[in-house]
Amino acid sequence: MSSESKRPNILYIMSDDHAAHAIGAYGSVINETPQMDRIANEGMRLDNCFCTNSICAPSRAAIITGKYSHLNGVFDLNDDLDGRQMTFPKLLQADGYQTAMVGKWHLGHQGINYPTGFDYWEILPGQGLYHDPVMHRMGEVVQHEGYVTDLITDFSLNWLEARDRNRPFCMLTHHKAPHRRWEPDDKHVHMYDDVDIPEPASFHDDHSGHGAAAHYAKMSIDRDLTPADLKHREPPTGLSPVELKSWKYQCYIKDYLRVIVSVDDNIGRMLDYLDEEGLTENTIVIYTSDQGFFLGDHGWYDKRFMYEESLQMPFLARYPEEIEAGSVNEDIVLNVDFGPTLLDYAGLQTPRQMQGASFRENLRGNSPQDWRSSFYYRYFMHCAGGHDVYAHYGVRTDRYKLIYYYEDQPGPRYWELFDLEADPLELQSVYDDPAYAGTVAELKEELLRLRSEVGDQTNPWLD
Ligand code: CA
Repeated sequence: MSSESKRPNILYIMSDDHAAHAIGAYGSVINETPQMDRIANEGMRLDNCFCTNSICAPSRAAIITGKYSHLNGVFDLNDDLDGRQMTFPKLLQADGYQTAMVGKWHLGHQGINYPTGFDYWEILPGQGLYHDPVMHRMGEVVQHEGYVTDLITDFSLNWLEARDRNRPFCMLTHHKAPHRRWEPDDKHVHMYDDVDIPEPASFHDDHSGHGAAAHYAKMSIDRDLTPADLKHREPPTGLSPVELKSWKYQCYIKDYLRVIVSVDDNIGRMLDYLDEEGLTENTIVIYTSDQGFFLGDHGWYDKRFMYEESLQMPFLARYPEEIEAGSVNEDIVLNVDFGPTLLDYAGLQTPRQMQGASFRENLRGNSPQDWRSSFYYRYFMHCAGGHDVYAHYGVRTDRYKLIYYYEDQPGPRYWELFDLEADPLELQSVYDDPAYAGTVAELKEELLRLRSEVGDQTNPWLD
């Protein structure tokens, strides 16, 4: 029992669509997140944490199984997870951990798609509601009153309070916020009313440096936000087209930031609980999101594209026993690595079917010499399935990103190359620039190598 109590507890907090550039610790210029920053200040910030498929359900499936989409079977947002697969909570539970999952699951809410490997679970069906949500508690439908971010935290804390104090715990707290449509808690509805939120540097990107997919996609602040997204607010009369676009951005981004305030406040409640219970030293606390999001970057909202704002996941980790306070890591870490890492902390090996690798040593400041220097990405959804982003795959290294868009309809298929050092905003593809011909050839080799390594046999290859 004594050795059992020494194994670290795990508090894994994940939100939905929270981009790193809306977190204070990541240098946000549009909001403040003091509670998330507590985790960063007392732990580590990862600057190159990425998803392998930038959309909700697929990233969640990659996290829980440690496998890429083509092996876990969750390719797009409509796919449910076959819960008979190996997952990291199952392994923790089998090894003596108390396990719980509260909040947005989004991997199905019936039969074999319900969460497995948890002693306790209570989930939102599908996307769930911000106000007075219905939840499924261990298969039973329960109607709640209140604001979803508060409720998810309440139920998480209730479970922690009722836990067996002689065994370690793994608590997954998954917030719905800040997923569209952004509905703040009543007390935050008027936050930011009197300020202008800065527009991002690429807000007026005309996509002249991008291929057809960027022009075809339907996630434009200008054209694609619906009246419901804008809460049926009416713009002032007489605005120019550019002024109207700015007005829509302010509506959108303020609601997005308002729902994040609730997430931040509630993270504070959980950190305070750990302090009060004397659990801070022996609990790994993680804050992340299932992918990034465009916050007006390139003139967009939403995600899916392999461009940085969508590709990057925020990842903050605190564990005073091993992680130096206020540290930063720049290694390439992926969502498929989360499971192996948490298992490692529990003293468990990464099972063979998981494709990710533990980055526990990286978090300790001892990055392995042979740590990956590139990774494979693939967005599988086709144009017909929401926001009309062409399916694509690609490779990213520390400096370059090569992307191949393979939709035949509406097509055409084409490549993009970005030099992130010369063009960090990814405004101009240099794929056709002869100066980059050698780089293109090397990256295509690397993409083939990675495709083979992860075992994605279904990807269409042009040349
Ligand atoms: Ca998401």
